[in-house]
Amino acid sequence: MKKPLYKRVAIKLSGEALMGDQSFGISPDMIKYVAGEIRSVVELGVQIGIVVGGGNIFRGIAASSYGMDRTSADYMGMLATVINSLALQDALEKQGIETRVQTAISMHEVAEPYITRRANRHLERGRVVIFGAGTGNPYFTTDTAAVLRAQEIHAEVLLKATKVDGLYDADPVEDNKAKLLERTSYMEVLEKQLRVMDMTAISLAMDNQLPLAVFKLKDKGNIRGVVCGEKIGTIITN
Ligand code: UDP
Repeated sequence: MKKPLYKRVAIKLSGEALMGDQSFGISPDMIKYVAGEIRSVVELGVQIGIVVGGGNIFRGIAASSYGMDRTSADYMGMLATVINSLALQDALEKQGIETRVQTAISMHEVAEPYITRRANRHLERGRVVIFGAGTGNPYFTTDTAAVLRAQEIHAEVLLKATKVDGLYDADPVEDNKAKLLERTSYMEVLEKQLRVMDMTAISLAMDNQLPLAVFKLKDKGNIRGVVCGEKIGTIITN
C-alpha cells in the first residue's frame, strides 16, 4: 500500500462539487462518492479537515447583484455551507467515519462552535472535522476560509478538489496546445489571474507558504493519489 506524504491535510470542496449533474442542491450519488473518496484517505491514517462551499445553494455575490444587501446575502451563503456540512457529515458517518462539524457562526443545536484547539483534538483522535460557515465574515469566500483553517490546524497542504484537471499554461478550451502545469507559483497564479481560487485566498496562502494542490474531484482515486504524492493536477508553491 502506498504511503501518504502528509500527516494532516485540509480539503476544500466547493458546493458545486456536491451538486453532481444537478443544477442546484445536493446530489445523493455525488455526496456518497465524495464521502468514499475521503474515506480512502482516512484509511491511510491521514488527519483531515474539510471546508465546504455553498455555491450549490446560495452565493452572496449573485444575490447582491440583483439588489440584496451584500452582508445579508453573504450570511445566507454561509448558512448554505452549514447545510452542505451537515449533509457531508451524514454521508461520512454512513461510511463509518467519525465526523464533527464546527461552525464559524454559532448554532449550538446543530454543530459545535469553531474552536481551533478542539478541532485539533478531534483530528488527533482520527475524526474528520468539517468547518462550516466559512470565515464567519461577509465579503469572504470559502476558499479563503479553507486557507485560513488549513493554517490554523497546521495542515501541510490544502487540497482543492475542482471541476478541472489542474492549471494550464493557456486556456485549454481555446488553445489545444495548452499544457497542464505540474507545478506553478502563487505569483504566477496572481499575475495571470488564473481562476483557481480568489485572490485573497491565494495571497493568504502565499504569505504563509501553504502549498495548494489543485486536481479534479471526479476522477476516482485522485484525492488519495495526491495525498500519496502521485503526479496529479497542479501544485502551487513558492
Ligand atoms: N461566504 C461568506 N464568507 C465566508 C465564506 C462564504 O460570506 O467566509 C458566503 C458568500 O456569500 C459565498 C457563499 O458563502 O458566496 C458560499 O461560499 P462560496 O461561494 O465560497 O462557495 P463555493 O463556491 O465553494 O461553493
